[in-house]
Amino acid sequence: RADLAMYQAKAAGRDTLQFYDPRIQAVVHARAALELDMRAGLEQGQFELFYQAQMDHGRITGCECLLRWRHPRDGFVSPAAFVPLAEETGLILPLGEWVLQAACRQLAAWARQPALAHLTLAVNVSPRQFHQAAFVSQVLAALAGSGADARHLKLELTEGLLLQDVEDTIAKMVQLKGYGVGFSLDDFGTGYSSLSYLKRLPLDQLKIDQGFVRDVLTDPNDATIARTIVALGTSLGLHVIAEGVETEAQREFLARSDCHAWQGYLLSRPLPVAEFEALVLRQEADGQSS
Ligand code: C2E
Ligand code: MG
Ligand code: MG
Ligand code: MG
Repeated sequence: RADLAMYQAKAAGRDTLQFYDPRIQAVVHARAALELDMRAGLEQGQFELFYQAQMDHGRITGCECLLRWRHPRDGFVSPAAFVPLAEETGLILPLGEWVLQAACRQLAAWARQPALAHLTLAVNVSPRQFHQAAFVSQVLAALAGSGADARHLKLELTEGLLLQDVEDTIAKMVQLKGYGVGFSLDDFGTGYSSLSYLKRLPLDQLKIDQGFVRDVLTDPNDATIARTIVALGTSLGLHVIAEGVETEAQREFLARSDCHAWQGYLLSRPLPVAEFEALVLRQEADGQSS
């Protein structure tokens, strides 16, 4: 067949026969190129953090940092396009360490400015990064190296990560919580957390996934899910925040459902640090004059 070629590969010391499809080969090539680009990008300082404000009861109390790759040829590349591959190849380990260090440096810089010193900072952590043996010491080193206050650092974990090795997860969380680091469960409701685990894990916050927030006014099921997450989180003693809030009507619905913390385009997109800081200062000034 024209599009199937046969080749021989020596693997593990013996000859194996494999068929391949040139389309698959093209994908493999593209992935290899992306991986090389990512490694070079990390060395050349092409990654940066953007910051998205988080509101609580009408005040910006903190933010989430979101990784951006300023690719010299392709412009900004979304983390959705490279984080999964970085996770597969292991490049997420040096990349995630860079994110933690950059985030902690930023947090320490804000602590030195009275108008910004109240801000908390949430950092996304991927499964492979979290489950590496050195993760706890990596976080502690980033804190110590920058002088950032652990109590202002929040780590965002996902349900899949939590369930991969529950004992290891709890041990790491307990250690970091001992220093004051907080934990938020990102994209809540999209994974498979069992309620019994939810009770055992030392979490501080649940994040209502933007998939539920989007149609909260038009889809009664999403409205019910959002309200249920708020009730569940609150009864477990957790702070609940909604992500992906784009309209005033969604914000109002959430507030009526007792969810007063949110982030989303309604207030701001993820911004370069100077723009984020200007937003906070403006909002603080408005808050004082009204
Ligand atoms: P996430 O942590 O759930 O982040 C929320 C995503 O929704 C972000 O996409 C954010 O820009 C976007 N978003 C925020 N507000 C709105 C809104 O009102 N409407 C809509 N439609 N979208 C909104 P982004 O920045 O492309 O990041 C995608 C995902 O990549 C993140 O999802 C997170 O899982 C991952 N990610 C981002 N930064 C990092 C990082 O530093 N490390 C790791 N491991 N993963 C990261
Ligand atoms: Mg997140
Ligand atoms: Mg999320
Ligand atoms: Mg998400």
